[in-house]
Amino acid sequence: MKIRAYLDNNATTRLAPEALAAMLPYFTELYLNPSSAAGDFLGASTPIADAKGSLAQLFDAPDLADGFILTSGASEANSWAVHAAIAGRPAGHIVASAIEHPSVLAALASARAAGWCVDLAPPNAEGLVSAESVANLLTPRTALVSVMLANNETGVVQPIGAIGERLREFCPQALFHVDATQAVGRIALSLYGELSLADFVSLSAHKFHGPKGIGAIFAADTARLSPMIYGNQEGGRRGGTPDAAAAAGVAVAAKLARERLGAMAQVAQLRDRFEEALTERFPKVQILGATVERLPNTSYFLLPGVGGDDAVEALAQSGVVVAAGSACSSGSSTPSHVVTAMGVEYEVAKTAVRVSLSHETVWEDLALVIERLGDLHAG
Ligand code: PMP
Repeated sequence: MKIRAYLDNNATTRLAPEALAAMLPYFTELYLNPSSAAGDFLGASTPIADAKGSLAQLFDAPDLADGFILTSGASEANSWAVHAAIAGRPAGHIVASAIEHPSVLAALASARAAGWCVDLAPPNAEGLVSAESVANLLTPRTALVSVMLANNETGVVQPIGAIGERLREFCPQALFHVDATQAVGRIALSLYGELSLADFVSLSAHKFHGPKGIGAIFAADTARLSPMIYGNQEGGRRGGTPDAAAAAGVAVAAKLARERLGAMAQVAQLRDRFEEALTERFPKVQILGATVERLPNTSYFLLPGVGGDDAVEALAQSGVVVAAGSACSSGSSTPSHVVTAMGVEYEVAKTAVRVSLSHETVWEDLALVIERLGDLHAG
């Protein structure tokens, strides 16, 4: 089936053609091992350094390129941050938001199984995790705090700067991890600004038109990254032959993301126009996170009477790609942990639908969503 309207950019984005073009020579001509002396001499390792440099620029910190280590994506980066905080230490205390990505929550579950105490800070009804709700959970034993920059479902931007300040005030010993995956390329970020107090920052290239299977962790001090994958590369911190092709894609995608940040204002305008039209067509729709700072590209709503999974399936049948909040497995759906943490009732939470735009989205794509949801609502 041909895709007519792609509106699931928080799940993944289309690879930028410029990134693909930059990747191809590393499959065909420059296939040398980037870690070998000859590979290094003949330029096969260049994309690794380029990717780090380009990411550092995107994070407004060109001098901090050495703090980036490429990973297989944000799930690895998130797992690594948790691992680095707990490995080799006596079990202590961890604070995270209740709306973290499953890769963080599952890493914390394994910490819990190893004897660590984990407290989750709840969001308010708009999906915002306040600095107070995190600060209230801090103890002198807190070794790690993990809060995402922007939530993948609601798009709500969390007050990372304020959380970092409370953390440094009450718990200077704790490490601070920020999963920035959804924010990259959508809002301006700075390792010298709101992220200046973060010890670890995670990201993933396929969320900003780069290739899948590659991301990075930024560490303010890479010596803190005790290895999870053993080997010689990255000074022994992350073993494995690096993927030069993917890194070449990251270098280009990060550069384009930086150049396109200005275009996000138009994306926000389109999103707002969509939400106005949606509310006009379905007066009972409830838009989540509408009163707080959100990513410019994300619209997440509850549409009473229409199951989120049913909506996704019906729209996909006509080539319109959106997402549901629920995690669907073999026919039974469980509402999203994010929506239920926001205090939405279990059955209502199952009606959550996410529409996520990119700079490639046009109004006709969004109009199609409203039209198809209308058919479903009437049917
Ligand atoms: N964190 C967040 C907030 C995400 O949205 C995602 C992707 N769904 C990830 C982590 C995991 O990214 P990856 O696919 O690169 O493992």
